[in-house]
Amino acid sequence: MSALLDIAILGAGESGVGAAILAQQLGHRVWVSDRGTIKAAYVQQLEQYNIAYEQGQHSEARILAADLVIKSPGIPDTAPLVVQLDAQGTPVIDEIEWASRHTDATIIAITGSNGKTTTAKLIHHLLKTSGIPAGLAGNIGYSWAKQIALDPQPCYVLEVSSFQLDRIQAFCPTIGILLNITRDHLDRYGHALEGYIASKLRLVRNASPAQPMTLMYNSDDVNIAQGLAQHVEGHLAEAALKKIPVSMAALDLEQTHLPIPTTDWTIDRSTLTLQGLHNAFNIQCAALAAKMVGATLEGVQKGLATFANEPHRLEPVITIEGIPYINDSKATNVDAVYWALDAMTQPVVWIAGGVDKGNDYSPLFELVREKVRAVVCLGRDNQKIMAALAPVHEIVLETRSMSEAIKISSLYAEPGDAVLLSPACASFDLFENYEARGDAFKNILYQQHKLLTEGISVTIQLNIPLNPTGQQSDDTIEP
Ligand code: ADP
Repeated sequence: MSALLDIAILGAGESGVGAAILAQQLGHRVWVSDRGTIKAAYVQQLEQYNIAYEQGQHSEARILAADLVIKSPGIPDTAPLVVQLDAQGTPVIDEIEWASRHTDATIIAITGSNGKTTTAKLIHHLLKTSGIPAGLAGNIGYSWAKQIALDPQPCYVLEVSSFQLDRIQAFCPTIGILLNITRDHLDRYGHALEGYIASKLRLVRNASPAQPMTLMYNSDDVNIAQGLAQHVEGHLAEAALKKIPVSMAALDLEQTHLPIPTTDWTIDRSTLTLQGLHNAFNIQCAALAAKMVGATLEGVQKGLATFANEPHRLEPVITIEGIPYINDSKATNVDAVYWALDAMTQPVVWIAGGVDKGNDYSPLFELVREKVRAVVCLGRDNQKIMAALAPVHEIVLETRSMSEAIKISSLYAEPGDAVLLSPACASFDLFENYEARGDAFKNILYQQHKLLTEGISVTIQLNIPLNPTGQQSDDTIEP
């Protein structure tokens, strides 16, 4: 075994506690420090594995004396403690780098601005239905290090965020998938798209002729093209990286079968549980990656027909009085909404809004004109989104609570329409997170449906006028 180290771990969430369990198992001296309150489930795990920890503070002297620091990806490089550690030359890494040093497994790593969870979960499912043992870990919410320590697998499917890539040193997946790069999380990169692109391209930085990697990437994405030109071409040896371009533009959803690039596989589209062009692209990448590690066509077909995605991603909720309601609360940026609207086959009442992250709504204008019956803005401050969309559509309404948004949507929806919650914004103004926003949408709808099926008429007090001018008083703001 290599030398035993004093390891300090910053942040006792899923990744920190997982990293600590692996470090403890390897015999290192481990100490976990969390400035906030550690969740009870993680306190229990730390105690179960006899791992020393502190919470409510960072004891700086002890952290600065460590041989190695493993930090939560949520802690930015600009945090004073990280700046100090960097300045004095202490190695600071993330759990992904730490875990990768302790496994020889085949790794499929998925990154991108949108579609990571869907694609990672799908690949894992396709491997399962092909009888191939594999673990699912990373940004999806399960610690990779913990799995390596407690349930090692010959293959891992990893969802990797840009934050997790920022501190990698030697991490080198066998197969990388780069789905897209759109403007998001720029606050972490000095509000410069270039920094975010560079972070995503770190996925391939350690490929070499001795450790070659296959990269599937979205060949229509201009930011990916820029990243490849800047960080790969001329930087990596030809034999280091096998590039497989996958084009969304080349997809034709009129066709009954979906081809899987570079293979002779085609998938009957009528069997797919995932809808929309973006998901057809995710499926192409997922099926090809699964095939590359041994999945069979039969297993993949079975997997695609039985796949159930995580909630809040174009999730059909319920049909009330002939109107289907769809929850896409995870769509927190403009690009995700673009593909949601693109996937709709009927006119939509679109519920959007929340905390605007500096959005440019113009890529949506054409789809809004073409497919949207009414825009229902939901948020504490709807001014920006309303100002952007008012010149594009004559019906742009303002609401300040989910029940109002649902009520007004149901009034504007005509037979044959759908109601889509796909916000393009973060949720923190009215909700704790995107899950709470999606759950509020679903719970109100279930409640309404229950009352209707019991024959009780539903009246939700509307505090806004039923006209599209958006003029209203402030008394409906939620706490
Ligand atoms: P992530 O883990 O990257 O946030 P998710 O799979 O959770 O991605 O999906 C987030 C949002 O992005 C959802 O609204 C989903 O419908 C949308 N989405 C999924 N795949 C893609 C894609 N390839 N391109 C654009 N949007 C996508």
